[in-house]
Amino acid sequence: MRLIFMGPPGAGKGTQSAFVCTEYQIPGISTGEMLRDAVAKNIPLGLKAKEYMDQGTLVPDEVVIGLVKDRIQQEDALKGYLLDGFPRTVEQADALKKMLSELNEAPLDMALNLAVPPELLVERLLIRAQKEGRSDDTEEVIRTRIETYNQKTLPLLDYYRKEGILREVNGTGSLEEVQSKVKESL
Ligand code: AMP
Repeated sequence: MRLIFMGPPGAGKGTQSAFVCTEYQIPGISTGEMLRDAVAKNIPLGLKAKEYMDQGTLVPDEVVIGLVKDRIQQEDALKGYLLDGFPRTVEQADALKKMLSELNEAPLDMALNLAVPPELLVERLLIRAQKEGRSDDTEEVIRTRIETYNQKTLPLLDYYRKEGILREVNGTGSLEEVQSKVKESL
């Protein structure tokens, strides 16, 4: 199973994707996590990425495309994976398609979108900010991240709809309710 887990910031992708990974016994590949890890370890790539992350804008495509290309070729990802937070632009989606075909890997099985109304997102993200203390969770940065999502990432829904692999799940409700809807859609 190769799937992409999509949804706006604050939709609850992290929590729900962890559940899908356990169900399918596949690794979750989160570009946001990989980037935060690179920042924490002071790797040059992380230093470059931090400027963008702190502002709530996107790290350049070539940086994240390179990270994903290396990661999906690792042993644990050969039978499948869940991509969380990638692709985020049409360019990244095109690069992913090309990369899978060049690596002779099977194409994506599914793009699952967790849909949450915009007015709920800021509130959810502010609550998370208090819990996790992420440096990109101030209200101003949150608004930029949602704006960036609307401009750059939202068009991907149409992209995967046209490819015939989009599944939409209503992401409102309790964690358990959303989890059972995710399960049904799989
Ligand atoms: P996330 O944890 O997915 O919300 O990502 C946190 C931040 O990392 C984003 O606001 C971006 O600055 C950066 N980032 C993560 N994934 C990508 C991606 N696929 N393309 C560009 N930037 C990304």
